[in-house]
Amino acid sequence: MKPLKYLLPDDALPTHWYNLQADFPEPLPPVLHPGTREPIGPEDLAPLFSEELIGQEVSTERWIEIPDEVRQILLQWRCTPLYRARRLEQALDTPAKIYYKWEGVSPSGSHKPNTSVPQAYYNYKEGVRKISTETGAGQWGSSLAMACGMFGLACLVYMVKVSFNQKPYRRALMEVYGANCIASPSDTTESGRKILHDDPECTGSLGIAISEAVEIAAKNADTRYCLGSVLNHVLLHQTVIGIESLKQLEMAGDYPDVIVGCTGGGSNYAGICFPFLGEKLRGGRDVRLVAVEPAACPTLTKGPLAYDFGDTAHLTPLVKMHTLGSGFVPAGFHSGGLRYHGMAPMVSHVHKLGLSEALAINQLECFASGVTFARAEGIVPAPEATHAVAGAIREANRCKEEGREETILFNLCGHGHFDMQAYMDYQAGLLQDYEHPEEEIALALAGLPSA
Ligand SMILES: *Cc1c(COP(=O)(O)O)cnc(C)c1O
Repeated sequence: MKPLKYLLPDDALPTHWYNLQADFPEPLPPVLHPGTREPIGPEDLAPLFSEELIGQEVSTERWIEIPDEVRQILLQWRCTPLYRARRLEQALDTPAKIYYKWEGVSPSGSHKPNTSVPQAYYNYKEGVRKISTETGAGQWGSSLAMACGMFGLACLVYMVKVSFNQKPYRRALMEVYGANCIASPSDTTESGRKILHDDPECTGSLGIAISEAVEIAAKNADTRYCLGSVLNHVLLHQTVIGIESLKQLEMAGDYPDVIVGCTGGGSNYAGICFPFLGEKLRGGRDVRLVAVEPAACPTLTKGPLAYDFGDTAHLTPLVKMHTLGSGFVPAGFHSGGLRYHGMAPMVSHVHKLGLSEALAINQLECFASGVTFARAEGIVPAPEATHAVAGAIREANRCKEEGREETILFNLCGHGHFDMQAYMDYQAGLLQDYEHPEEEIALALAGLPSA
């Protein structure tokens, strides 16, 4: 029988995260203070973040040890399986070999607990007892709520209002884990009240929800803030995905020619790609990296690389990233997790160095790919993950046209069980493609801060 899946034993769970900052041919641009526009130091971030996480944010050490307490929890669902998508290959009639790393086996259904667990752990260990955060579609909120529950931390989640109303089950899940979930914009913060005053009907955005969560942490000494993507330490925690994939592909006797991932803030993409990119930068094999983003939020393909704020109310430091402008309010397309205005500085830097490609795909093609995948492989991908599936299918079709037997690896970062409304709308023909208009991009970019 030909193997369909590659499983690693528990003792293969990575002991260290891989830090790409150690192997960058040129260092990341500095993070700037929002007031002075000078590079910030660790003390500027201390009111918001755990000390250990701030250390990881700026570390250039190549391997960073994963604490035992964190590994004990990750062991519950890691190592995650790597599958050879033989039935999908057959359905596409492609000579390519397609592998996917399946991150949907975590308790909350996505890759996010890879970072929510260490973030909750470090805060707990440093004596913090309350965490604030934001969530778009609810995957991050539920993953952090789960981790906070495990360490007995109170968790306050600002959920983008449109998702809060559309996805009651995600909110219910957060509440089961013991979190308090508030629709954003809300009247519980100054930033929220200001936005509601200007626009009482505002349905929210990630940028607004971040402002509310950051404000709560800044104003309350007992509360710290956690972010589910974008930051260097988050990408670091996600590298367990790629480290395991390297070992699993070795078991399969293969190495990828191309790796595909979907990008919202960039963390799952970085997680699967960076360990392979590190090998390449240290003289190993070449590999193409392809980031797939929604055409309705085309951060890498249409946003310039510029210093920008991480949130709408401009409470965060300035980071250099591909951005559509911090005032960007995306259309209500069905991949809540991919609606952030910026892209992780590390992913932006990799892109600038020419080490990664980017592709924007419309939602109808993504859902069609998700359905093709579900019918062949049995797994229903999260709407976000369908972007990676669509990118992998495009690569497989290219291999067919060119008659090439390439190896494709993609990250299947979460399941779609809480997103069946999106599939229902798709099947009923209610979804439309939406490309973010150039005029709106120009307008948002005109408001970029000067740095
Ligand atoms: C949050 C999320 C994303 C987007 O975030 P990244 O940081 O780009 O990974 C994508 N897919 C799923 C399933 C998510 O939960």
